[in-house]
Amino acid sequence: MINTRQEAIELLQNDTCHTLALLEQARVLREQYFGRTVVLHILSNAKAGRCSEDCGFCSQSARFDTGIETYPVISSDDLFEQARVANEARAEKFCIVTATRGPTSALCDSLCPTVTRIKEAFPLLKICTSLGLLTEITAARLREAGVDRYNHNLESSRNFFPQIVSTHSWEERQDTVRIAKNHGMEACCGGIVGLGETREDIIDLFFSLRELNVDSIPINLFNPRPGTPYGDVKPLDPMAALRILAIARLINPSKDIRAAGGREAILGALQPLALFAVNSIFTNGYLTTPGQNLTDDEQMIADMGYEIVREGESENINHRDTETRTGASGRFKI
Ligand code: SF4
Repeated sequence: MINTRQEAIELLQNDTCHTLALLEQARVLREQYFGRTVVLHILSNAKAGRCSEDCGFCSQSARFDTGIETYPVISSDDLFEQARVANEARAEKFCIVTATRGPTSALCDSLCPTVTRIKEAFPLLKICTSLGLLTEITAARLREAGVDRYNHNLESSRNFFPQIVSTHSWEERQDTVRIAKNHGMEACCGGIVGLGETREDIIDLFFSLRELNVDSIPINLFNPRPGTPYGDVKPLDPMAALRILAIARLINPSKDIRAAGGREAILGALQPLALFAVNSIFTNGYLTTPGQNLTDDEQMIADMGYEIVREGESENINHRDTETRTGASGRFKI
């Protein structure tokens, strides 16, 4: 575990600690808290595009011409059907996302009854919503409807954030995380790396998340989106991305850390190694970009000697035989 900012900055930039050595430190902590388990999250982009905000990395902002498909809030039946599919995939969390500054009263009117309906039908499927900035009133409504977890990312360090977003502040984001927690929802809060921020910014983000004591940390590896102000940024190289994931674990050892958007695009052939640092992933793609499908993710997890679990169920869901992973040959005795 890393306790000081300086130590973390040095580890992130110091090539004398090989990336695999750093990953091994992360793996020890990851397995101390989560064993060899992996949890799956499945996203629903329940309202796409035309967002009023100007987050420079995001293809869903109305301010950029990105050519994505846009649509208003999907129907209750469509959302319920997506939840059914997520439940059948035995996802831990079904994450309902809208491209909005924050949930209006009308959005709550639309979503809350569906959340309650999903919770009643699929009691093992936990609901996370990511709808933007919260107020006390909207937070209370969502919690009352049955929302288990609220996602709102800090995105980057307090210092770098104003360079990427001007329509709301880092402090407003922090306040939303606190409001969600105060209303009894778990806090899912992470960020995005690879926008050109400094190493210090990345470390400051991870320490801010530790101070906020968030429950879950999704880390997006920026996959440049054409048409956005950051569309021409040079992507992170995979080893640098792995170092960042490892450092996130070393700063937040006991937290649910997720390889989020950009996993496939940035890590490429190295993406299985991310599992040494993270204990959860999104499967079946992201909000506006495709990702690895469930079958291939299951295979990858099994090949790495890990197992998919879901709270409330005792059995794992890997399709491959356990013997194949850890059996007589000891091939994956890590
Ligand atoms: S608030 Fe969310 S959806 Fe809207 S532009 Fe920012 S990141 Fe994109």
